[in-house]
Amino acid sequence: MFKRIDLHTHSDCSDGVLSPAALAGLAALRGVELLALTDHDSVAGCEAARAACASARVRFIAGIELSCQWREREIHIVGLGLDVADVGLREHCAAVGTQRRERTEAITQRLARAGLPGPALAQIALAAPVPTRMHLARALVSLGIADSPQQGFDRWLNRGRPGYVAAQWPLLEAALRCIRGAGGIAVLAHPHRYRLSNGSLRELAAQFKAAGGEGIEVSLPGMAAADADRAASLARRFGLAGSVGSDFHEPDLPWRPLGRFAKLPDLITPIAARLEP
Ligand code: AMP
Ligand code: MN
Ligand code: MN
Ligand code: MN
Repeated sequence: MFKRIDLHTHSDCSDGVLSPAALAGLAALRGVELLALTDHDSVAGCEAARAACASARVRFIAGIELSCQWREREIHIVGLGLDVADVGLREHCAAVGTQRRERTEAITQRLARAGLPGPALAQIALAAPVPTRMHLARALVSLGIADSPQQGFDRWLNRGRPGYVAAQWPLLEAALRCIRGAGGIAVLAHPHRYRLSNGSLRELAAQFKAAGGEGIEVSLPGMAAADADRAASLARRFGLAGSVGSDFHEPDLPWRPLGRFAKLPDLITPIAARLEP
């Protein structure tokens, strides 16, 4: 059994800063034995990560993190063990990629109306293979408009701020169809970040399970004990396997360290047992 597992990480194929190969190298350095690359709405980095993991003797799982909507809220679903050549998966990523580029344009137009250099921001963010608001937040920093990406979000990009544009993500069921169609296992990502009441979170987990979801993240770095307990009890109640991951984006964010988090709570089936690297 693998002792150190990280099944939620990002590379520069979405909004992480390391290349897939550098991510694999860092994973090896940190003693990670089983690594999944789960870029936002993209599997573009999986082949390079797989190759680098093979030479670093890290077991690799091809994954993805899909943004989707459930009851007007944004929910993230991690897919693990994907056939990255699957046509349905490719089409889903292409369609979401188009939406992301359109949203980036719309955000920068709004920011331009607020007096910011919209075209320059658009140029930087649209150079990314999968443009996210994180790219815009970093562009705000590189152009000297914000001191940090977090400040960029807080002042310009978050809901209620001048550059906010709501996203029209695919529905939860569509995200699950996409992952399952590509032979993957669907995991409900970071349940504590949705600000849902206990009742709503149970309804989400029930609908996720009914649509074919198989796992839930129960341990991430910095997850409060009460949130971890809540996720673990959802796992038990709905027969979901427990997944663990750092949601690593960059080495400079010490609160999301690659491969470091609490152990799985008792009586939870580890998702890794269902994965064949
Ligand atoms: P998007 O999917 O385009 O909305 O971009 C979201 C990405 O930006 C997420 O995957 C996070 O990495 C990051 N992010 C989103 N909201 C915030 C926030 N309020 N503060 C810091 N980072 C955020
Ligand atoms: Mn991200
Ligand atoms: Mn997420
Ligand atoms: Mn993530």
